[in-house]
Amino acid sequence: MENVIIIGSGPAGHTAAIYTSRANLNPLMLEGMFAGGVAAGGQLTTTTEIENFPGFPEGISGPELMQTMREQSVKCGCRIETLTVDKVDFSAHPFKIFAGSQMYESKTVIIATGATAKKIEIQNGDRLWQRGISACAVCDGALPCFRNKPLIVIGGGDSAVEEATYLTKFAAKVYLVVRRDVLRASQVMRQRALANPKIEILWNSNVTEALGEKMFSGAVILNNQTQATRIVDASGLFFAIGHAPNTAFLNGQLKTDETGYIMTLPGTTQTNLPGVFACGDVQDKKYRQAITAAGSGCMAALNVEQYLHEIG
Ligand SMILES: Cc1cc2nc3c(=O)[nH]c(=O)nc-3n(C[C@H](O)[C@H](O)[C@H](O)COP(=O)(O)OP(=O)(O)OC[C@H]3O[C@@H](n4cnc5c(N)ncnc54)[C@H](O)[C@@H]3O)c2cc1C
Repeated sequence: MENVIIIGSGPAGHTAAIYTSRANLNPLMLEGMFAGGVAAGGQLTTTTEIENFPGFPEGISGPELMQTMREQSVKCGCRIETLTVDKVDFSAHPFKIFAGSQMYESKTVIIATGATAKKIEIQNGDRLWQRGISACAVCDGALPCFRNKPLIVIGGGDSAVEEATYLTKFAAKVYLVVRRDVLRASQVMRQRALANPKIEILWNSNVTEALGEKMFSGAVILNNQTQATRIVDASGLFFAIGHAPNTAFLNGQLKTDETGYIMTLPGTTQTNLPGVFACGDVQDKKYRQAITAAGSGCMAALNVEQYLHEIG
């Protein structure tokens, strides 16, 4: 039986792996095999330059950062299996974890399965992904290619308004493309968007096509009422239509909020089940950064250590 199984391999999972290894807990990580639509290593494997992770003044590419984290986990003693967890049974001790044909038993579990940014299908969207198309304004908005340029944000909720407002710090102008004739965002966020002179809202609109050869250079926007199309020149396009936490394999065995994020006791990584801990984006819909995910991975490892000590 394992002391601790870590499910997921982003910054949260690897930080938990490093700390639990160094605490001699001999952890096992199930890193996933293209689970949640991303490679082992998590969301950062889908991005190019990371400029805000401490310790890399020149920046570092996402895949490279995750490769070094994996190497550090292995060097500290973590065993890693490239398997995706299909289901769990948390109804009794030890906890059971199923991945393909394998079944594992463990005294504790750390869930670090992250969240997947939602995208909508647009023509050329995949080809120009990370070539001007992103799903994270806080991560990418300050990059030189977006500064003093017009940008497009897709979405009409609170996070879309937040991302659009954030981007106005750098952008010449931000087009907020909204499917309907109202914003879903809260009253205060609506007012903020409407009052910002740098934000132009394109109502009843859908982006149908991304333009550009090597880099995104604009989009075809359809008015879904009149069916008229127009081309908007822009250097960046940001999806801001929410994230889906990777929790389907839990099959409702842990308490989640109405959008599926695992609920943890404030200030800890403790879920509603003693011995099961959650860290990173799967339990955080507010900050969603590599460094906050890593920080909570450290917390989960320390919480596990303390829990195992308490149960002897
Ligand atoms: C395009 C993009 C750019 C970004 N840029 C930055 C940036 O510049 N700076 C920054 O700080 N943050 C950035 N972020 C945010 C950052 O990537 C996340 O906050 C961070 O990766 C979250 O880490 P995590 O460990 O919680 O989960 P993730 O990185 O999402 O990793 C979760 C891992 O768990 C695996 N998994 C899921 N389900 C299962 C399962 N059932 N079984 C086994 N494994 C499973 C997944 O495959 C994945 O590998 C960016 C995000 C995106 C999408």
